[in-house]
Amino acid sequence: MKDVPVWVIEERCKGCDICASVCPVGVLSMRLDSKKILGKVAEVSFKDSCIGCRECETHCPDFAIFVADKGEYKFAKSSHEAQERGKKIKANHFMLPAEFGGCE
Ligand code: SF4
Ligand code: SF4
Repeated sequence: MKDVPVWVIEERCKGCDICASVCPVGVLSMRLDSKKILGKVAEVSFKDSCIGCRECETHCPDFAIFVADKGEYKFAKSSHEAQERGKKIKANHFMLPAEFGGCE
């Protein structure tokens, strides 16, 4: 069994926001990273909400984010709370809003 449902290979991530934009349950957000071309990198902020849909992995243009197999991890069920958090992350330019521990 894996101990995480989804993980980012930071060296490959260019900070394009796509994974955070397609995640339906607010698992992913972006964090500032001055070493990156686009100045940010993807981060797994709420791993316990991951439903294993693989939208992030499918859409990443750089093969920088991976999702555990269904048999390797017990994924969450989608919840209204997680969906609402996802909307707030998207509305905040994919950065984690302060109410969830992000810095603004
Ligand atoms: S889609 Fe891939 S390259 Fe783009 S931010 Fe997400 S992990 Fe990084
Ligand atoms: S597998 Fe789905 S729920 Fe999990 S981080 Fe990727 S897009 Fe979000």
